[in-house]
Amino acid sequence: MNILLASGEVYPYSKTGGLADMVGALAVALANAGHEARVVTPLYRGIREKFPALRKVDWQFDLPMGLEHIQAELWELDVARGLKIYFVDQPGYFDRAGIYQENHFSYADNAERFIFFSKCVAHLARYLPWRPDVVHVHDWQVGLVPALILQQKTEGWGNPPPTCLTIHNLAYQGVFPEAAFALTNLPEHLFHTEGVEFFGLLNCLKAGIAYADVITTVSPRYAREITTEELGCGLDGLLRQRQKNLIGILNGVDYGEWNTNRNPHLPKPYTIGRMAGKNFNKRKLQKDLGLPVNESIPLFGTISRLAEQKGVDIQLGALSEMLNGNLQFVLLGSGSPEYERGYRDLARQFPGKVAVHFGYDETLAHRIEAGCDFFLMPSRFEPCGLNQMYSLRYGTIPIVRATGGLDDSVIDWTQNPRLATGIKFFEYTSRSLAKAIRKALVLYGQAKLFQICRRNAMKADFSWDQTVHNYLNVYEKCCKPAIVA
Ligand code: ADP
Repeated sequence: MNILLASGEVYPYSKTGGLADMVGALAVALANAGHEARVVTPLYRGIREKFPALRKVDWQFDLPMGLEHIQAELWELDVARGLKIYFVDQPGYFDRAGIYQENHFSYADNAERFIFFSKCVAHLARYLPWRPDVVHVHDWQVGLVPALILQQKTEGWGNPPPTCLTIHNLAYQGVFPEAAFALTNLPEHLFHTEGVEFFGLLNCLKAGIAYADVITTVSPRYAREITTEELGCGLDGLLRQRQKNLIGILNGVDYGEWNTNRNPHLPKPYTIGRMAGKNFNKRKLQKDLGLPVNESIPLFGTISRLAEQKGVDIQLGALSEMLNGNLQFVLLGSGSPEYERGYRDLARQFPGKVAVHFGYDETLAHRIEAGCDFFLMPSRFEPCGLNQMYSLRYGTIPIVRATGGLDDSVIDWTQNPRLATGIKFFEYTSRSLAKAIRKALVLYGQAKLFQICRRNAMKADFSWDQTVHNYLNVYEKCCKPAIVA
């Protein structure tokens, strides 16, 4: 099959979160499975320097944006057999210090930037000599693509390919003032409550939900949750209408990147059978982060965007109680200044027990996953979550709230004591999380049980084979229009 993927971020070219990891890995997995995958993404600052093999394509975009026309160029990178990345080069929009924001402020022209990018995707889908069998778009940044493609059907594009939208996080919808709708050059009649309008505003993700042939999201449980008022972020009604075409597929893990035995980020390799390297990594992490070096103290870690979704408030509450005991905690995070302040205060309150590092650091992320005993992920909601799956492979027991992909990927003691891989809690409260941490400390004290849990965790397999198989089924489903409502 020929699959055209489109995303506002793709690892290893750009990344702010799991979206980039997933799209990058899906493309590789599709190519490895013998398909032809091409990915379209913006050419952000620094990509050309980091990937000097990028080649300019003989291609010129000249697309209407409201009453104006905007031009752009196209670059490409052949990554492997069956995998090519296209980069849309529009320096005015994309040659900037950030991807979506700078200094915690979103760019004021994000609507314009990603409407233009979406138009480039639809344009490539139509005019590339290579014809996609399906166009698979990811999140709000390219949510308008299905509508733009359908519109071109009325403008002489005889048989456009079907479209699939993946929702990586329903909380980010790309909502902009009505005036931005004019930039889409879509007909006025699409600006209604069953289409792209959301309480008088333009909603890019809603556009995708309304017009894509098939919608997927990144875990089966999240697919159910987003049809409820509680987690539907105002779009649960529309999602219920489209439920027949809404499918949850758990993300895979790129074990080529996230592994413990061939990993340039880790001081020492280790495997299930040879865990000495993990202990070494723990001591090294303690030393490098300025904590007392002591293998017997249980070490908890978190790597996260510091956003409300991630459960920062209950985590700060639970830790300020639990850190009175014998444990250490490390954090790598970036995001809300208010939450950064909260963690800084925690570090001041518990010197020698807490190490916090703010910013984005890929190497430190691997080293925390490898050096800790437990990984905390108390999310309020979590579409899939990747870090808990990375933790499993790194033998770092995840402590998760039973929501979305966290619930789908971790097995708690009470679910199956023989196969347990982690610890789950249910209520979104500091008390409940503190209780889960207490359970972790008990587990840590029982060497045999801890070892069983660690082994189960490291054996859990979320490789892309199954995930890619599920996506191929979805692509086939959207290529059979009879099933599509
Ligand atoms: P989300 O996409 O909601 O941020 P996920 O768990 O799905 O959450 O994916 C987060 C990804 O981003 C993981 O690869 C994680 O390691 C990475 N990440 C998050 N924050 C940081 C950070 N401060 N430094 C390095 N990597 C980070």
